[in-house]
Amino acid sequence: MKISLIIPCYNEEESLSPFYNELNKVTAEMADYDFEILFIDDGSKDKTLSILKELAKEDKRIKYISFSKNFGKEAAMYAGFCNSTGDYTAVMDADMQDPPALLSDMVKILEGGEYDSVATRRQTRKGEPKIRSFFARMFYKVMGKISTLDMVEGARDFRLMKRDMVDAIVSMCENNRFSKGIFGWIGFKTYWMSYDNVKRVAGQTKWSFKKLLKYSWDGIVSFSNAPLKFATGCGILSFLASIPPLIMAIIKMVDGSTFNGVYSEILRWNVTLFAIFLVGGAILASIGIVGQYISKIFNEVKGRPHYIVAQTNKEDVVKK
Ligand code: UDP
Ligand code: MG
Repeated sequence: MKISLIIPCYNEEESLSPFYNELNKVTAEMADYDFEILFIDDGSKDKTLSILKELAKEDKRIKYISFSKNFGKEAAMYAGFCNSTGDYTAVMDADMQDPPALLSDMVKILEGGEYDSVATRRQTRKGEPKIRSFFARMFYKVMGKISTLDMVEGARDFRLMKRDMVDAIVSMCENNRFSKGIFGWIGFKTYWMSYDNVKRVAGQTKWSFKKLLKYSWDGIVSFSNAPLKFATGCGILSFLASIPPLIMAIIKMVDGSTFNGVYSEILRWNVTLFAIFLVGGAILASIGIVGQYISKIFNEVKGRPHYIVAQTNKEDVVKK
């Protein structure tokens, strides 16, 4: 049996050596299995690639695939899936926030035969900024409501999967990738394993708040039509709301009846202004949302590669 490990790395020079030491320990304890360790260097600007080259010299199980620039963690994971050949495949972060020590338990669960994948979730978000946890929780709640996906709060990308599942992921070749959505969409039986949050072993998180916000939005637009429905709803509402004042205005024009006092004031100025803002705002928001979907379509239609490999020690590396 062979296990492929996919490790996306972006500026991880400080984490790599503690991570590799830990991984070595774990794999040594799992002597019944062969390992293929795929490090995906996502265009790091530090010494990540040279460290990987050194490691690959000493350890024949290590293959590195280095991108020509930073394509993002999603592209790195996809490159890993496309190039993994193991019976089981796992994705894990290079910073030990996905504890390699869990691997042997995960493998045991798959060996049981009942499940096709073992996924992990953090029970706690200890050590993470409060505001970040709050927005993350909100995101999972909203996403669970507006999409057909079964979103699990605190889910990590850290998973061990059987071959069939990996093949299914590779077959989903969309450019706007949102792995948590993809894992859910393809189905299969998943066992959820919980663990307490672990702090990054070294270095900084590569996800700024802005990057996370964009990623969440990508997830929503890729797996839900709710924003489009919301825009349509706003359009219909503001259309309906404009009918009564219009009727009042027509009555006034035809038989000259006046609406007295406050009503006439509202009719003359405030309603008009308010209506302009309301309708204008609804139209702009709707166009914006439609535009977001069109830009996604545009991205897909261009059919650009997901990633470009600049250096690798892997023969016949798969490019997609
Ligand atoms: N990563 C990547 N490309 C990126 C950003 C991150 O390959 O553009 C990798 C990173 O090296 C790490 C993993 O994705 O192995 C998770 O990143 P990070 O630990 O910064 O995210 P967090 O755990 O803070 O959510
Ligand atoms: Mg991390």
